[in-house]
Amino acid sequence: MDMDWKPPRSRRRNRTWILPLGAMGGLLILAFLVITLFRQPNTPQGSAAAQTPALTCSATTAEISTSDHDPGEKQGDTDSAPLQPDPVLTHEIASGDSLSAIFDRFEISQNTLCQIMAADESLLALDILRPGNLLTFTLDETRRLAKMELFIHPGKQVIYHRIDETSFDYEEVAIPGEWRQQVISDAIHGNFYNSAIASGLTDQEAVIITDLFKEQLNFGRDIRAGDRFQVVRNQQFVDDKFTGGSRIEGVRIIRRHRLHSAFLFEDGNYYDEKGESLARAFLRYPFKSRYRVSSHFNRTRRHPITRRIAPHNGVDFPMPVGTPIVATGDGRVTRVEKHPFAGRYVEISHGSQYTTRYLHLHRIYVKRGQAVQRGQRIALSGNSGRSTGPHLHFELHINDRPVNPLTAEIPTLVSIPKNKRQKFRERVAEIVAVMGEPEGKLAAR
Ligand SMILES: [Zn+2]
Repeated sequence: MDMDWKPPRSRRRNRTWILPLGAMGGLLILAFLVITLFRQPNTPQGSAAAQTPALTCSATTAEISTSDHDPGEKQGDTDSAPLQPDPVLTHEIASGDSLSAIFDRFEISQNTLCQIMAADESLLALDILRPGNLLTFTLDETRRLAKMELFIHPGKQVIYHRIDETSFDYEEVAIPGEWRQQVISDAIHGNFYNSAIASGLTDQEAVIITDLFKEQLNFGRDIRAGDRFQVVRNQQFVDDKFTGGSRIEGVRIIRRHRLHSAFLFEDGNYYDEKGESLARAFLRYPFKSRYRVSSHFNRTRRHPITRRIAPHNGVDFPMPVGTPIVATGDGRVTRVEKHPFAGRYVEISHGSQYTTRYLHLHRIYVKRGQAVQRGQRIALSGNSGRSTGPHLHFELHINDRPVNPLTAEIPTLVSIPKNKRQKFRERVAEIVAVMGEPEGKLAAR
C-alpha cells in the first residue's frame, strides 16, 4: 500500500496525499469507491448483487454456503469489549447487499465508509463479504461510528476501531478452536472431481488435489472405473461450529497399477511417500528485472502522521506503469478485485498454505478460478488505488498471516532433507494408519 511509499530521502511526501485525503480527497475517493464497486461481482450466473445500484460488496457465488457460516449466535461470547453502554446496530450480509446501502440505512456517512475502507487496505477483508457474514456498528454518544466489527465465521472476526477524527485501524481476532480429523475414502465413478464432491470434499479441495498430482497424473485420461482415493482432512471448529477452515493432511490415489501419494509436512509443503516434493519452488520476486524496495514489510510500522501502528503487510517496488507482473508460484486465482485504496489487485492461492497478492495494478490478464503457473504473466503493474507513484505492492501470506516475502521460507526443497527424514516417515505412517488399507485392489509397491 502506499501509505508508506516514499521517495528516497523524503518522508514529507507522505503528507502530500494524506492531508488531502481528509479534506477534498475524501470526495474523490468516495466517487471512486462508488464507481469501482459498482461493477459486477464475480458471479458468472448473474446474481441479484449484480443489479444492485450501489457499492456491491457481497460475493454471492455459491462456493461458500451460508449454512456453514452462521456467526450470529457468536456475537455475545467473543473477546470484544462489552458493548452494553453504546448503541449497537447489527446487520447480517445478504445477497445483493452493499456496504454503501448498509451505511446509509444506519445513517453513517459515506465518508466514514471511506475511512473504514482505508483501514481495510492492509487487510482487504471487506471486499469479499459473503452472505451470512455479520456486521455490528457501535456508535458513540454523538451517534458517530466508534467501532465496526465484522464476523466472518466463528473463528474469525475483524474489528475496525476509530483512532481519531478521520481514521480507523483494524484488529484481527482469530479463535484457534479445534481441528477435527476426518477420513474420506471412495471409489472413483466417472471422473475424480465429481466423485470427490459426491464423497464430501469441497470444490476447493478437489482442485487442490488435482493440482497436487498434475505433474504425474492426468485425471482425465489415467483414471479408470474402480480406482480409489483416500483423503485425510482436518477441519476447524469453534464451539462445535465449522469455520470453513480446512486442511488436507494426506491423499492417496490408488490406481490399478500405481499408487500416488501426497503428505503435508511441517514446512507446509506436500511430498510423496519417498519425501520428494510435489510442489515446484516459488520465485522470490513477481517480475523479471530488478527493482529497488521503496517500502519494506513491517508489521509494526508507525504511521508517519498518526503515529499509530499501521502494518505494511507487503513490499513496495517502484516500477514504471506497464511492467509485466508474474505469478511467483503455481496456483489458482482467488481474487480479481478493485479496491478504492489497494487499486486493481490479484490474489493467488498456492495449495493450502500459501497466498500471494499483487496490488495497484494497471491491467489484469487472469480471471478468478483460473490456474496459473509459476512465472506466468498475470498483470501489468500500475498506479491504481491510493498510490503516490507507480509501484507494485506484493504480499506473501503463509497460513493466512502476511510474512516478509523477501525473507520468508518459501518452498525451495526438492526433497525432505536427511535430518528430517525420520520425522517425515513417522508423519506418513500416522496418516496412512488413519487411512487404513485401501479396499479392493492395491497393487503398487
Ligand atoms: Zn505497500
